[in-house]
Amino acid sequence: MSIVQRVYPAEGAQLDALTMHCDHARYVYNLGLEQRSWWTPSRRHFRQKITAASQMRDLTEARREFDWLRAGSTVVQQGALRDLDRAFTNFFARRSGYPTFKKRSGSRQGFVVRDLVVRRINRKWGEILVPKAGWVRFRISRAWTDICAASSARIALANGRWTVSLTTTPVPRREASTTAVVVGIDRGVANSVATSDGRMFHAPGFSAGEQVRFVALQRQLSRQQKGSANLDRTKAKLGRMRLRLADRRGDWIEQTTTVLANTYSGAAVENLPIRNMTRRAKPKPDPDNPGVFLPNGGRAKSGLNRAILASCWGKFAQRLDHKMSVIAVPAAYTSQECSNCGHICPENRESQAVFRCRGCGFEHHADTNAAINIRDRGFDLEYQPGGILGDRVCQSRKRAASTVSVV
Ligand SMILES: [Zn+2]
Repeated sequence: MSIVQRVYPAEGAQLDALTMHCDHARYVYNLGLEQRSWWTPSRRHFRQKITAASQMRDLTEARREFDWLRAGSTVVQQGALRDLDRAFTNFFARRSGYPTFKKRSGSRQGFVVRDLVVRRINRKWGEILVPKAGWVRFRISRAWTDICAASSARIALANGRWTVSLTTTPVPRREASTTAVVVGIDRGVANSVATSDGRMFHAPGFSAGEQVRFVALQRQLSRQQKGSANLDRTKAKLGRMRLRLADRRGDWIEQTTTVLANTYSGAAVENLPIRNMTRRAKPKPDPDNPGVFLPNGGRAKSGLNRAILASCWGKFAQRLDHKMSVIAVPAAYTSQECSNCGHICPENRESQAVFRCRGCGFEHHADTNAAINIRDRGFDLEYQPGGILGDRVCQSRKRAASTVSVV
């Protein structure tokens, strides 16, 4: 868990120091990555295996030799090597791909501050001690006790905005109470989130005007000369628009998940392989003309992918899980199954919004029907004799079911 606060470095020496730290962190990270790529089983004989510890020793040696590296902060540079080590740990645990080099032009730069020292100036402003940069101001938007409890921080620059992300212990989740009510949550494209009791939530996007401007800027970018000042300006404008959109969606996720966590005691969501679902359409080669491809619906697929990613399904489920107990259920046929009789067929779903069962004639909003199926699957998984939720859920199921049949 982390608390992100906005940082306002003073123009001049302080800003330069932060930029220098970003540069050094990136340099050390890339150098360490290159050094690691030297090591292969066949070259093992010329050196010991390269580890975080050996790289720390090499860094100390390099700092002794190069003045400009010594001018930077040991903490920041060692932090970069630790980041690299974590990237490799994640790679070997198959959690992520092979670490890649960080670019100066990358949209996100940053560095680590250990042994965090913060102080409060007044109600709204605090300061964090950054090596070589002194006290850097940040805006307080969270409880001061939570900020003080953090042990380390990461200062980052993304799209022209400096932030500090403070690592804290997670806030305890709301556990199932005596009034246990479990909700099923269907994540979709037309309605970003639909609940089993018929509520709909829509993730915000660009307004129509913003969309037009965004596409126009992208076109402009594609025509501009690489390395030109105009291209940089267009990139910065696009970056600011992306930032605004990300803020809007981030707010929406926080507010919606808090509403759900306050209203219900448990949630069931589909277990969706979002990474697999948003892959690009496979090219379809023409069997008669080698080298020629048939239409594969690529435009439609990339439009759907964009819509799925815009609904922030992954982030939503992640934040929900932080705030309340969440059960992941198998996702197959949740939109085709009748929540009344269990009949499954694709014709049940008449249109995007309407669900009408071919078996029993049950009619409902399609997304709500799917959410009810998800909730019921959650019960099947969670409700076992002596399970965590026990009888209370069974009662709430009866209660929830009665409200549904009224609709
Ligand atoms: Zn039915």
